[in-house]
Amino acid sequence: MARRSEADMPAEWQRRVVEAAARTIAENAALLTELDAAIGDGDHGSNMKRGFDAAAAIADQLAEQAPGPALQRLGMTLVGKVGGASGPLYGSLCAAMGKALGEEPIAARRLAAAFTAGVDAVKARGKSDAGEKTMLDVLVPVAEALRQAASDGAASPAALGPRLRATAEAALQSTRDMKATKGRAAYLGERSLGHLDPGAQSSCLLVSAMCRLYEEHG
Ligand code: ADP
Ligand code: MG
Repeated sequence: MARRSEADMPAEWQRRVVEAAARTIAENAALLTELDAAIGDGDHGSNMKRGFDAAAAIADQLAEQAPGPALQRLGMTLVGKVGGASGPLYGSLCAAMGKALGEEPIAARRLAAAFTAGVDAVKARGKSDAGEKTMLDVLVPVAEALRQAASDGAASPAALGPRLRATAEAALQSTRDMKATKGRAAYLGERSLGHLDPGAQSSCLLVSAMCRLYEEHG
């Protein structure tokens, strides 16, 4: 059997994914909390940090599982540890994505379909959709961009990564001028205008971190 470098091993990849996600959340927990303090209850940073720290603590075990089951387990960890509205939503995203991926190695088209299944699970769990000033305002356009890239084919990591990051960043900024109709921010009505949504910010951070990994390691 051909010998592969350590970096090619799925296990190493999965460890990197979990650690990069936990790092970006830890580095930006104060920002997430500040955004949530403006239009929610100021706990999004601590919620997310608790959940992703717990995921990082089991990174070795997650790295040993096939991608699908590892994502399902990550989802359960997030449901159990993040709490709030966002825990079950991020948990549903990972669990549905993991279920769609199954045990096989990841390929571009299946990744796009699996991410879409994850986003659909968030919509179902949250009874929500894009345009309501939530994490879905980032997740939905990113899923669309991933599907587009998978059907176009042949985009290099160096081209696709920045394109997806730009999609996520523009989508995050678009939440500033939205009126919240779901989650705690909906209680503010018009007063939610002019603020970024904290869940859209955490989704943008996570998407960006995954893209940077992909750009660095292909
Ligand atoms: P909580 O609102 O319970 O304090 P968090 O502060 O951790 O939970 O998460 C708030 C984020 O969750 C919001 O900024 C929003 O992006 C997301 N969110 C809340 N409700 C929904 C929903 N029904 N659908 C999609 N996302 C939602
Ligand atoms: Mg909150």
